[in-house]
Amino acid sequence: MLHKIEMLRELLDTRPKASLGFFPTPLHRLNRMSNELGVNLFLKRDDFSGRNLFGGNKIRKLEYLIGEAIAHRAEYIITYGATQSNHAMQTVTACRVSGLKPILYLVAVIPTDEHDIRSNLLLDKIMDAEIHIVHRKPGESEEEAESRSFQMAKERKECLEAEGHKCFDIPMGGASPVGSLAFTEGFLELTEQMNELGITADYCFHATGTGGTLAGLALGCKCIDSKTCIVSINVSKKDDTYPSKIASLANQCGYVLGVSAIVRKGDLNIDPNYYAPGYEIPNKAANDAIRYLAQTEGILTDPVYTGKAFAGMLDYIRTNKVEQGSNIVFWHTGGATALFAEKEILGDLGE
Ligand SMILES: *Cc1c(COP(=O)(O)O)cnc(C)c1O
Repeated sequence: MLHKIEMLRELLDTRPKASLGFFPTPLHRLNRMSNELGVNLFLKRDDFSGRNLFGGNKIRKLEYLIGEAIAHRAEYIITYGATQSNHAMQTVTACRVSGLKPILYLVAVIPTDEHDIRSNLLLDKIMDAEIHIVHRKPGESEEEAESRSFQMAKERKECLEAEGHKCFDIPMGGASPVGSLAFTEGFLELTEQMNELGITADYCFHATGTGGTLAGLALGCKCIDSKTCIVSINVSKKDDTYPSKIASLANQCGYVLGVSAIVRKGDLNIDPNYYAPGYEIPNKAANDAIRYLAQTEGILTDPVYTGKAFAGMLDYIRTNKVEQGSNIVFWHTGGATALFAEKEILGDLGE
């Protein structure tokens, strides 16, 4: 396995990369919670990826994405998300440290009060991103508003390029083959940290949204023949094509990297049972999980992503879907800025 890790690292080293955060991110055991639950539970702290206090899994992806943008001599970065998008905020951070100009197209999934700007949207403002908020029209679905935001961005890009400016587009969540390279690397990073502790992870739980994180992890896992079972908890409704889309993204990532390993949709364990009622809408199990982790270990997760994934993991442990005594890693992907977002996103956390 060591040889495979080294070979993969060499391939990753050939890719353009911007230095944006602090890696490797810490890995540590949750002692009190492990005792209570009867498992060996570790936390992988991508919430500490930097560059500021508000890091997360997107900084990891952006190292490769911004590296690519700089190689293309881009001046503007255009990206997309919800108004409280962690990805959008981390992209602005990445742009600022790299001397690039960020343009955001943000769909108001949860309506924002323009006189009381909070959380990531506030950070986007402070860092002075060019922000376009796309309000949903009556009867318009989230997907339709998203498509409209892509069209608006396309027009803005054409204008800028006509004036001689070079633009680089980053998809929602940074979910592209190049972005996923970062989580192939992340999987190696975790494996090396576990090796140092003399432990193999039986399970790795994480929240999955656009799927870029999962695609990278799954490819890394496959490339080094790891025995770790990755369990991916959905944070939003997805159609039946989601697993095959992620397998395809993983394989495009493998193509970029030049590896022969193939990820099949059957390799993925995607669980849609914990996100209801929907993206950015809280649920009781997630909020209970947030309070449990906070009150047992003093660590904060969020109601949109990590809280729901953590609740999923707790359910697997408590119902013996994972065996007692297992070595489990929960990948903390960041997002706790949501704790300062709109009440609709928080639910009963403030009560
Ligand atoms: C974006 C995000 C995820 C999901 O990552 P994807 O690569 O989009 O699947 C998980 N947790 C947090 C906090 C995020 O911001």
